[in-house]
Amino acid sequence: MDEARLSEYPFLTKAAEYVAGMDSTIDEILVSRGYDTARSRAKSRLIQAIKGEITKEDLGLNIPELIELLSYPIARILVSCIDDAFLVRRYALAEAKFANSKLEKEDDNILTEIGRDFNINASIAEKGFKIHFTDYIRGAAGMRALKWKLVNRRLESGYVNITREQYARLLQEAIRARIIKALPLDVPDMFCQAMADDIKEIRTCLEEIKKEFDEEGFGEVEPGDFPPCIVHLLSSAQGGVNLAHSARFALTSFLLNIGLSVDQVVQMFNVSPDFNEEMTHYQVDHIAGSTGTSYKPPSCTTMITYGNCYNKDEICRNIGHPLSYYRKKKKIQQEKPAESAMPESTKPEGTIDGNSGVKKLDIKNKR
Ligand code: SF4
Repeated sequence: MDEARLSEYPFLTKAAEYVAGMDSTIDEILVSRGYDTARSRAKSRLIQAIKGEITKEDLGLNIPELIELLSYPIARILVSCIDDAFLVRRYALAEAKFANSKLEKEDDNILTEIGRDFNINASIAEKGFKIHFTDYIRGAAGMRALKWKLVNRRLESGYVNITREQYARLLQEAIRARIIKALPLDVPDMFCQAMADDIKEIRTCLEEIKKEFDEEGFGEVEPGDFPPCIVHLLSSAQGGVNLAHSARFALTSFLLNIGLSVDQVVQMFNVSPDFNEEMTHYQVDHIAGSTGTSYKPPSCTTMITYGNCYNKDEICRNIGHPLSYYRKKKKIQQEKPAESAMPESTKPEGTIDGNSGVKKLDIKNKR
């Protein structure tokens, strides 16, 4: 692959080797005026990712290839200096989607070559690609839509036929997983100090987005009173994690039962890697009772059985249902309005944020 292609797919092994083989050291790239544009592009990659989509538009379409290529490792250093789990997930998803927008127009041979970098055994077929079923399962593991289930695919001699678009989608998921897995990097403090101004700007943007989410709120709904299991599931969903079906059902039914609208719940899932608004709307609508049956969230016993009970606290000891937890915690809060009066174990910690309009909570995923 030439420099132009590597700049389009900077997460590839060959791209990393290319950068590692350059005469300039990373210290020079982070401070030298000759690399100002690369650092500026790195910052824009992140700010765009925070806002939802990476494009080349803000710096013009004619960004030199080397600058575009170098901006990727610099962006990874910036993410690592900031070290925010939400940012990591949002950035990885935006980079993967940015790559997908190029993969869809890419030559078939290049697509297979990129697949090989991710150990995906695929070949060009008459209508799309043939991919070994083990690679298919690995790639589609994070996809929740039914069409991705292996049982819904035709298997021929161990291979699954998929369209070009689906193959690009599998690559997108592999890219997202690779980026997330490697971040944050272990970055020396001096690198972060060298880019302190850019880091400050990115942090401000991140905080602004979080504040926007906070301001939307949910009226009388009090996220601070959610049980720890729901806090964990919500934080995962808003961070772009694909929840298992049982977890998705528990979270959706809980939120609907405490008064959120179908639209609010649908929007909460729109950071998932395979978010499909129409399908999500249908599923949430169904749980809300569009077919005449509305569903209650599962009891604590069922939550435990399915591995969806996280971070039990003192209140959990005396309740049997997440909705009972919510009612009880609300009552405690009303009786003891001052936060300092809350039992230590029920105080939230950490941060949750996303683009669903759920108020910011303080949570740490302790599992
Ligand atoms: S005990 Fe019940 S309310 Fe508490 S975290 Fe587990 S499932 Fe949630």
